[in-house]
Amino acid sequence: MINMKKHIVIVGGGFAGINLIKSLKNDSRFSITLVDKNNYHFFPPLIYQVATSFIEASNISYPFRKLFSGYTNVHFYMGELTKIHPENHSIETDTGNISYDYLVIALGTESNFFGMENVKRCALPMKNIEEALYLRNYMLLNLEEAARNKDPQEAEKLQNIVIAGGGPTGVELAGMLAEMGQFIAEKEYPEIKHGLSNLYLIDALPTLLSPMSKVAQETAYKKLEELGVKILLNVSVKDYVDGKVLLSDGTSIQTETLIWTSGVIGREVPGIPEESVGKGRRLLVDAYNKVFGTENIFALGDISLQLTDEKFPKGHPQLAQVAIQHGNNVGRNLKRIEEGKEQIPFRYDDKGSMAIISKFNAVVDLPKFSFKGFLAWLTWLFIHIIPLVSFGNKVRLAVEWFRLFITNNPSIRLILLPKKNTDQE
Ligand SMILES: Cc1cc2nc3c(=O)[nH]c(=O)nc-3n(C[C@H](O)[C@H](O)[C@H](O)COP(=O)(O)OP(=O)(O)OC[C@H]3O[C@@H](n4cnc5c(N)ncnc54)[C@H](O)[C@@H]3O)c2cc1C
Repeated sequence: MINMKKHIVIVGGGFAGINLIKSLKNDSRFSITLVDKNNYHFFPPLIYQVATSFIEASNISYPFRKLFSGYTNVHFYMGELTKIHPENHSIETDTGNISYDYLVIALGTESNFFGMENVKRCALPMKNIEEALYLRNYMLLNLEEAARNKDPQEAEKLQNIVIAGGGPTGVELAGMLAEMGQFIAEKEYPEIKHGLSNLYLIDALPTLLSPMSKVAQETAYKKLEELGVKILLNVSVKDYVDGKVLLSDGTSIQTETLIWTSGVIGREVPGIPEESVGKGRRLLVDAYNKVFGTENIFALGDISLQLTDEKFPKGHPQLAQVAIQHGNNVGRNLKRIEEGKEQIPFRYDDKGSMAIISKFNAVVDLPKFSFKGFLAWLTWLFIHIIPLVSFGNKVRLAVEWFRLFITNNPSIRLILLPKKNTDQE
């Protein structure tokens, strides 16, 4: 008997991929293969809390196989996409080849270093769990070295932390590092005389949180300044040489830690027609997320550039809600194609944006008004728990946050650098 099921291969199990899968799960007309280079889904908006030793990585990640264990039509395949072959409907990964009826590309983005090779080589990006754990270990090791170092200049260099990028991630990271420095410094690092770190937050634009409201921008600036963060605006990073960050105004900062939250670029997708790649290396798609110049390939979420939505003529912001709504709409449309119905064009329902600045302080921009302070902070916590994929993760994170915000003292500052067979060293 011929298998009439449509095989949908989804590459990338982030917000877009997972929500597409949820909308098609247990539908016997489709057989779905999710390909991802990791075996887990994770929640990027809380990565900075992993990097700062505030929460465990497992609080915001979940294994795909466990997630799909009750789904009858979904398979997981671990592999990294290396090339697509539109002409014979197949993809190549580092672990094997797979053919498809429909291909969905939901690979997200990677850090953009704007062609600065030294920055790319030596700065610390923070886009995924691995990078966040690396950064956590790196900062903790630096603190130990600063505590041992008797040379004040060297110690200062180790304590200086420069965050490039004053968007929500940079602001959230700066606020949390500044607060942790205050709460933990005296108790745990008595050898370090002038606090845990000198924090610099740098942005090329004239304001922090540039896509947000004036209320949000001013609140973030004021609160971070109160926390002792040195904010440099209208200045960009030009190079990073010999532990020195060189800035566009001719000044420089000595540091061993340059954290890069400054920009993103779409991941490369070898095999996609060149004319389908738009600004920011995003894949140009039509109103139904079909990639220009292809027949049965869709792109969703951060990696896609859709210019057909009247309210967003320059494309949608690269946010979780866009990816979630893309996933849901493409799921609905794939069903409609099967049913011979017309597809529904994508329209983004903007639910607003928010950023946490410090304990009890956040800013929230809703489509019609903005608010800040404690209520905004509670809203932020609630909104960031809801999209976690499992009930267990939601409960664990809520309990953990409650404990941490009361005690001000996360206890997972462990330097863990896994090695094989350490006995023989
Ligand atoms: C630090 C940080 C903080 C953020 N904070 C917020 C926030 O507060 N609010 C908000 O709305 N948005 C926020 N965002 C943006 C938001 O996370 C993205 O818009 C969203 O994750 C996009 O979803 P996506 O499914 O398109 O891609 P992603 O979520 O990036 O998922 C991509 C998936 O593709 C996989 N993958 C990548 N390359 C390959 C490959 N070659 N082969 C196989 N698999 C691959 C990855 O493992 C991953 O699972 C933040 C992003 C970051 C990095």
